[in-house]
Amino acid sequence: MKVIRLFLILLTAPILAASGAEKIRVSTFSSILTEVAQQVGGDRVEVFGHVKPGSDPHDFEPKPGDLRAVANAQLVLLSAKHMEGYVDKLEEATGTKGRIIHVGDQFSSLKLSVQQGGKSQDGEDPHWWHSIRNIARATKIVRDELIKLSPSDKTVFTANAGGYLARLEKLDAWVKSKVAELPRDKRKLVTNHDAFGYFAREYGFTVIPIAGLSKNDQPGSKKTAELIQTIKAVGVSAVFSEDVANPKLIQEIAHETGAKFGGALLSDGLGSGDGGTIEGMFKHNVGTIVDALK
Ligand SMILES: [Zn+2]
Repeated sequence: MKVIRLFLILLTAPILAASGAEKIRVSTFSSILTEVAQQVGGDRVEVFGHVKPGSDPHDFEPKPGDLRAVANAQLVLLSAKHMEGYVDKLEEATGTKGRIIHVGDQFSSLKLSVQQGGKSQDGEDPHWWHSIRNIARATKIVRDELIKLSPSDKTVFTANAGGYLARLEKLDAWVKSKVAELPRDKRKLVTNHDAFGYFAREYGFTVIPIAGLSKNDQPGSKKTAELIQTIKAVGVSAVFSEDVANPKLIQEIAHETGAKFGGALLSDGLGSGDGGTIEGMFKHNVGTIVDALK
């Protein structure tokens, strides 16, 4: 009896200790990284997602409440690749002691044309999350950072990350099989802003963006006329809008080119409802693209 009691104490003691421990406070500035941090950290983390699903990360500006949370955070996860133009403010205004991790800067970038002062120049494409391989890289970065903050939880974070990475791999296999339904010459993606470069590289698409980096960066009438010519010349059967963009221009382009309006894609992070998870975002986007272009 005594032995059993001792065994029970030994068995329950670490569990009680773990559940009573304070959670690691994580701030994230990307809805994608919010999911990754929650999946890897599980109940050992408290994640504050500053950029909410369905909102535009290009236009985001931190409010006093965001700065207070960052001041108090132990880990701050940035999408990076120049997405957070306010990063200096986060560091200076909050005086945070938390580790600020520029997640997206830790893997390679695609180039993108950026409009600045009326001129177009080369910039870094910030939309790395449309490659599942990049999300897997981000998962490993978040896992390693959480282990640094709480080495005693290494087993938990490693197991959580392992399970999540396996799900990402399964999702990638699904995307590949869905895209395979589409002949290579039909893999042409006309979207509102230039967000699908990493997706295109991964799955063999060509992207023809209507606007540039930002959805506010709309083309003039001359550029629109040129785009209509290009779309007609390459023979695109459908064009796509985005959840956070005004679909008017893309609908006009559909009308002018005779392409059909394929629907709205989730471009700048997670959406709502079924599109509120990374898996849901890929299923929505890939399903919409392939079914419209087939
Ligand atoms: Zn974007």
